[in-house]
Amino acid sequence: MAVLRKEAFDLPEGVIYLDGNSLGPLPRGATARAMSVLQKDWGQDLIRAWNTADWMALPAHVGDRIAPLIGAPPGSVAVGDTLSVKVFQALAAALQLRPERRVILSDTGNFPSDLYVADGLVSLLDRGYTVRTTPPEAVAPAITEEVAAVLLTHVDYRTGRLHDMAAITLRAEAAGAAMIWDLAHSTGALPIDLGSAAFAVGCSYKYLNGGPGAPAFLYIRPDLSERITPALQGWLGHAAPFEMTRAYRPAPGVARMRIGTPPVIQLAILDAALDLWDSVDLDALRRASITLSELFIAEVEARCPTLRLASPRDPAARGSQVSFAHPEGYAMVQACIAAGVIGDFRAPDLMRFGFAPLYLDADDVRRAAAILGDVIEREAWRRPEYQTRAKVT
Ligand SMILES: *Cc1c(COP(=O)(O)O)cnc(C)c1O
Repeated sequence: MAVLRKEAFDLPEGVIYLDGNSLGPLPRGATARAMSVLQKDWGQDLIRAWNTADWMALPAHVGDRIAPLIGAPPGSVAVGDTLSVKVFQALAAALQLRPERRVILSDTGNFPSDLYVADGLVSLLDRGYTVRTTPPEAVAPAITEEVAAVLLTHVDYRTGRLHDMAAITLRAEAAGAAMIWDLAHSTGALPIDLGSAAFAVGCSYKYLNGGPGAPAFLYIRPDLSERITPALQGWLGHAAPFEMTRAYRPAPGVARMRIGTPPVIQLAILDAALDLWDSVDLDALRRASITLSELFIAEVEARCPTLRLASPRDPAARGSQVSFAHPEGYAMVQACIAAGVIGDFRAPDLMRFGFAPLYLDADDVRRAAAILGDVIEREAWRRPEYQTRAKVT
C-alpha cells in the first residue's frame, strides 16, 4: 500500500525536507482548523467554547488517536505539556512502583533533556537515588535487581540507532524494573510494540507533524495507572476539577497525568495533523522509510567518500533517520539548506537527515544526495556565511 501523501502537506516549492524527524511540516488541513479555532471558537464563543467546542475533551480525544500509533489501547494515553515534563511525570511514577530500589538506568546516547530531568528529580527527592548510564549496547545486562526504572529513548536522536524494544522490555520485566520508553523519534516512524512496558512518552511535533510546541503524550500500562499518585498534582488531573475541593483526588486512569489548562490551539492543530494518520499502514510506512534511507546511504556513499556513515548500516537496527559524520558537517548542512535540501546538525560533527515517506519519494532522495554531493565536490560549504553557527542548529 502506498503511503505517499505529498498533496496533504504545504511544503515550500523547491524544498526537499529531510528534517521531519525534528519538526514535521505543515499539513494542509491544519491551517483551516487553526483558523476556525481562533476565529470561531475563541473569537466568537469566547469562554463558552470550553463547552460549545468541547475544548476540555480534546486531550483525551487526541490521546485516543495517538494510542494506535504506539500500539496502545484507547484510554491509556494522556496528552499535554512538553516531552520533558512527561519524562518527569513518568519517572516519578515509575519510582513509586519500586519504592525499595534506588537506581535509574539510562544510556549515554539518551537525549540530554531526559537525563537532565532524571538528575533534577533525583536531587529533588534527595533519597539516595542515582542516575546510572551505560553505553547503549550494554543496557540489557545492566538491568539488575537494583534498578527501579529503565529510561531509554527507542531511537537515538544522533545516530538513529534503534534499541531492541522487545528484548529490553522483557529483561526489565524479569528484573522487576519499571520500563519507560521515550518514543520521540519512533512515533509516526515505525510500528511500536510496547509489550509489558510500564510507561511510554513522546512528542507530537516530529513525525506526527503537530507543529512547533505541539503537546507531548504519556502512556501508562492500564493495570498500573490506579497505583500512581502523580508527582505533579494539577487541578485538571483531579477527579472532579470543578468541585474545587481542597483535597487532591486523582482522576481515574491515565487522566491523572493531566496537569493544567490544555493548549487548545496546538491540540486542534495536532488533531488535524492526525487525520492523515488514520489511513497510514505503519508496516508499509516502515518499509517505505527503509527503502528511502537505504537509497540515500547508497547515493551519498557513491558521491561523498569523505563522509562517514554514523548510523547503523543494518536498516533493521535504525529508525527513520540517517546521519553522516564530517568535521565540517555544520557548514555542509548550511550549504545544503541554501540549495533547497533541509537537514540539520548535531554536535560535534553529525549531519542528520530524516525520511518521512508521507511526503518524500525516491526522486527527492536522489536529488538530495546529488545536491549534497555537489556541495562537497564544489566546496560550497567553505563560504563564510555557512560557517557561523546559528542559535538553533
Ligand atoms: C525531541 C526530544 C525531546 C524534546 O523535549 P521537549 O520537552 O519537547 O522539548 C526530549 N527527549 C527526546 C528523546 C527527544 O527526541
